[in-house]
Amino acid sequence: MRLEINTYRKIIDSLREGIYFVDQDRVITYWNKAAEHISGFSAAEVVGRSCSDNILTHVDAQGKSLCLGYCPLAETIDDGNFREAEVFLHHKDGHRVPVSISVRAITDKQGNIIGGVEMFSDISSRVANDLRIKELEKLALLDNLTQLANRNFIQRELANRFEENKRFNVSFGILLIDIDHFKKVNDTYGHDIGDRVLKFAADTFVSNARPFDVYGRWGGEEFMGIIRNIDEKNLVSQGNRVCRLIENSYIIHDNQKLQVTISVGATIIRKDDTAESLIKRADGLLYDSKQSGRNRLTAG
Ligand code: GH3
Ligand code: MG
Ligand code: MG
Repeated sequence: MRLEINTYRKIIDSLREGIYFVDQDRVITYWNKAAEHISGFSAAEVVGRSCSDNILTHVDAQGKSLCLGYCPLAETIDDGNFREAEVFLHHKDGHRVPVSISVRAITDKQGNIIGGVEMFSDISSRVANDLRIKELEKLALLDNLTQLANRNFIQRELANRFEENKRFNVSFGILLIDIDHFKKVNDTYGHDIGDRVLKFAADTFVSNARPFDVYGRWGGEEFMGIIRNIDEKNLVSQGNRVCRLIENSYIIHDNQKLQVTISVGATIIRKDDTAESLIKRADGLLYDSKQSGRNRLTAG
């Protein structure tokens, strides 16, 4: 199959990554649609200009131009090596956009370098998330191992939910979660594998949570989900879904699937509840789940 040059253009313009081509003098020869979108500069504004012309400078975290010092694209055109980096792009409106870039040399048939191509993608949301994690770390509200909210954070969150309930009558429920026979995982596979299991369980909780629900590590192999604005029926179905997800997930260790299950106690806030009475009730229900065979949820 031979593709027309226009077909290539269409494909390149439909990509989500910004792409631009430069010749040996770093003069921009092609600038795709995503590049326009991410940088604010249209193709008409940049094609024919040199990437060191200061319209489009990449800057480091301090705002210093990379064109004057280390420029990945210039270095790649020089030595032909593939490079990747995380830098900031100077947006037309003046602000910096964090981007992850990869650059390759373009060669002619004889293998001579005749230019370079850079692909870049906007990583603002990832950077924002990393910053949030750093903030939480600073405030000592983050559990280092799982990157979930820690017990301290959960306690604050519970206090907020009680306040919200008192003032606006918004209901909420909690899921108290404990990994089944976790001691056996540690004893059989070692503590490091145990840690990996904790991380994967934490990731499963978070990636399946609604944006306003919070999952945190309550301690050891116990977790708590605070589920906002929910009734018992939906709390139960959400909790059961988490049980099934964990039951059907696994990590690979020594070419084998390693799986765990969880037991859950689920309860909704009641009139006259305190954080203590709510947690105590969830703890009792969790205990019932353990007693009646594990890998299940008990609500009450
Ligand atoms: P059950 O089904 O009754 O909950 O049994 P279990 O073995 O999960 O319960 P138990 O409370 O006896 O064991 C919990 C284990 O969790 C013991 C402890 O060593 C382990 N643990 C606690 N924190 C960590 C951790 O950060 N990393 C690892 N790898 N293990 C941990
Ligand atoms: Mg436990
Ligand atoms: Mg346990």
